[in-house]
Parts: sequence; C-alpha cells; structure tokens
Amino acid sequence: MSRISLDPPRLGRRQLLKLGLGAGAAALMPLSGLQADTVSTRARVVILGGGAAGMSIANRLATRLSGARITVVEPKEQHDYQPGWTMIASGLWAAERTVRPNADFRPAGIDWVSQSAAGIDADARRVSLADGGNLEYDILVVATGLQLSYHLIDGMSTDLIGSHGIGSVYAGHQAAARTSDAIKAWLASGGGQGVFTNPRTAVKCAGAPIKMAFTTQSRIKKVGNRDDFALDYFTASDDMFSQPWSNAFLKQRFDRDSITRHHGWYLSAIDPQARQAEFTGRDGNTEARDYDFIHVVPPMSAPDFVKASNLIAREGAFAGEWLDTDIHTMQHNRYPEVFGIGDVIGAPLNKTAASVKAQAPVVEANIVAFLEGKPLPARHNGYTSCPLITDIGKAMLVEFGYDNDMAFLPSFAFIDPKEESWVAWVLKEHMLQPAYYAMLEGRV
Ligand SMILES: Cc1cc2nc3c(=O)[nH]c(=O)nc-3n(C[C@H](O)[C@H](O)[C@H](O)COP(=O)(O)OP(=O)(O)OC[C@H]3O[C@@H](n4cnc5c(N)ncnc54)[C@H](O)[C@@H]3O)c2cc1C
Repeated sequence: MSRISLDPPRLGRRQLLKLGLGAGAAALMPLSGLQADTVSTRARVVILGGGAAGMSIANRLATRLSGARITVVEPKEQHDYQPGWTMIASGLWAAERTVRPNADFRPAGIDWVSQSAAGIDADARRVSLADGGNLEYDILVVATGLQLSYHLIDGMSTDLIGSHGIGSVYAGHQAAARTSDAIKAWLASGGGQGVFTNPRTAVKCAGAPIKMAFTTQSRIKKVGNRDDFALDYFTASDDMFSQPWSNAFLKQRFDRDSITRHHGWYLSAIDPQARQAEFTGRDGNTEARDYDFIHVVPPMSAPDFVKASNLIAREGAFAGEWLDTDIHTMQHNRYPEVFGIGDVIGAPLNKTAASVKAQAPVVEANIVAFLEGKPLPARHNGYTSCPLITDIGKAMLVEFGYDNDMAFLPSFAFIDPKEESWVAWVLKEHMLQPAYYAMLEGRV
C-alpha cells in the first residue's frame, strides 16, 4: 500500500520564485479598479456584513468615494479565513492560523457598527439593527454570507462536532479542529464505516465536502490499513461538482478509490448515541446507515432576516432562499440601489472567496456608475475557483465561469486544471491566504 507524507515540504522564497509564485498576491491576481479616479458623493452607503465580500468592498469604496458616508454592519470582532478550515480539519494547520482581528483590515474613515442587522425594508431604504436602531441608505450592499442550517438535520447540533464520531468543517475554526480530532480518534480505532455528506442546497466551497473525503483517505493511508475503513459519500445531487470535466473526473476517482457514491440522498436525521444517520431519498423514502465517523454538511441559504425581506428572490431556482441579484452586474433585480456580493446571492456558481475577488471590482465599478447616473459598465463572468485537494500534498486548481458550459478559466499557464499537482497544493497551502488578505484590503 502506498504511503504519503502528511507534512509536504516547506517552500523557501527562492523555490516559490522558480514556480513563478514568489510575488505573492500581486502575482496571483492582477491589480484592478483602484487606479480609477475618486468620485465625490454625499451618498450613504450601508454594507451588511464585514466578511470576505463586505470588507473587500468597504475598502474599495472607501478609496473610490470621496465624501460618502460608508457604514459596515458586522457583529464579529474577528475575521475568519474560511478556506483554511479544510486544512485544520485535515490535521494540517493549527486553528489559530485562520483568525485575525477585523481591525487589521478595516478602512479608515468609515463607520463600523458592531452588531447584527435584523431586517431590511427595501421600499423605505432602511435597515433595522438588533438593538432596535435603524440605518437609512442611498446604496445598500448585501454581503452577509450565508446561513448554516444544522437545525434542519433532526438530532444535529454544532455542539456535537468532535464527539460521537461527528465532524463538520463548516462550523468555524474550532469545530474544524474538533473534526480533525474526531477523524484521528476514528483512525486510532483501527477501522469502520466513514460517511461523508452533501446536502440538497448550494453550499459554499462546493469542493470542501469532497476534499474532506480525500484528505481523510490520505490520513487512513498514512495509518496503513485503508482496506479496514469503508468510505461512503451521500449527495442529494446526481453530480459531484458543477464543472463538467471535473465532475466526470471526480466520479471516476471516487470509484477507483472505492469511495462509494450514493446519489439522490440527503442527511435528514442523526442519532449520535446510536451512531446512526438517516438519509432521505428523492421519493421521500428513508434509509438508516450506521457510521463510526460522519462528516456533516448542513443545508445553506441566505440568512433568515434576508429571506424575510423583499430582497429575496421570488421566483425561479433561487426563490425564497437567495438574494435576487443580476448574476452579471450584481445589482438587485428589483431595487436598483441594492447590490449583492458573495455567498448570499442567487447564482448557478460562485460561493467562493475567489468569486468575491472577481465580483468586488464589478460591484465597485457599477456602484460608482449608478451614483453618477450612468449605465452599469462591469459584468461578472461567474469566475470561481477551487483548489480541489485529491490527496494531502496534491490538488487540482479548477477555475471556471458561467460561459461555454462552465469552461475552464485557468490563471496560470503552468497549472493544468485537469492535472493533479503539487504546485496547485503549494498554492493552496502557502499562497492563497496572503492573496486573500490583500483582497480584503481592496488591494487586488
Ligand atoms: C470549509 C470552507 C472551505 C472553503 N474553501 C475555499 C477555497 O478553497 N477557496 C475559496 O475561494 N473559497 C473557499 N471557501 C468559501 C469562502 O470562505 C466564502 O465563499 C467567502 O468567505 C464568502 O464571503 P462572504 O463575505 O460572502 O461571506 P463571509 O466571509 O462568510 O462573511 C459574511 C459576514 O457577514 C456577517 N453577517 C452575517 N449575518 C449578519 C447580520 N445579520 N448582520 C451583519 N452581518 C452579518 C458575518 O458575521 C460574516 O462576517 C471556503 C469556505 C469554507 C467554509
């Protein structure tokens, strides 16, 4: 049985330069937008959420708009680098590596409201806050990210993560660390049934549920007795991934690796004491499955207060669940002074930080044009990217967008999206985090 190293070699700057990656964020992502002229305005701009999308657009608008009153509403004091959570849950990173204070990224000269938004009255152009206060706006940017609905899985709660053989990479950096511990305990037991799940809804980082199956398999191989561990993957979808070539590849790879695929099933209930999961099929029929370790991926949607507002999609595939934005201009389909960015929007792709990076210059340019009374000039092409980890130490950099049947949009001539490579892994492990922080600061 082949063995792999859990500690891929650390790279020096010289080696990274050889790979063409040494210039860090600037090399990864071209500068955009910020060289544009500043625009004078007295507009009141309210940004809901100060995560990847909200922080990025706040920095961009703070540079671009002179005289505007920009307010960010964000209850958390810390910023989570969520793409690092798969590394934590795979036993590779310490949890603290993904956490920084929001103050590190906040632009000067804006108002920061440290609480949650509780409601949006789009007709009155007013946001209500958790403390009962209100904020009126001329421009609203909805950047709240999405809501994790663990409660829709009967018997499940985030408190269970790390105990009873339950893991989930999505519930925060500490939950990711507890997930790694649960996997470790399972490996130490010497064998048994592992179950990996994917829900009925869109999820952020659609590759993460798959990465967790692959990195767990890598860790099993490290122990040396893969045949003693059964791995099963349950997904509500017929597919593994939205990019067609990668979808076919993943199906083959799961089959080759004996990770048994079950399509058309979602996790509907869990009994932690009995270590039993219930899956519901397309006809509403249910099946029970015993597990020794289970990776739970909850259903996801726009936050409840966005769902309760008149900004939520009313028809089509995103009705009742996601923000009703034009997927190209990022402008709301019914309220032109409202823009959406990040995970909260209804779109066939996206829900990655890489998409946020592509969307932010579009939202900036279109807000400026809107304030100037001009046609919206910028269009998002759906760009999204997933460093799809297939083994610890190997990944495929899958970049694609809306057009041409979700064709690949590779950024680097030396990285083939159809090849597993150590270089793509190096990008994930070393390069994306600094590039991400540069994005938050509005520098890329
Ligand atoms: C396990 C995992 C792995 C990932 N891997 C990758 C990857 O490899 N590559 C990649 O590109 N992306 C990855 N992502 C996805 C990426 O992190 C998200 O797509 C990105 O963070 C989306 O940005 P956002 O601003 O929309 O949401 P977030 O960054 O989640 O920010 C939303 C913000 O809104 C705030 N908020 C929520 N409700 C309210 C309210 N009522 N009022 C005010 N504020 C509110 C929240 O506190 C939060 O700060 C991963 C995500 C996870 C969880």
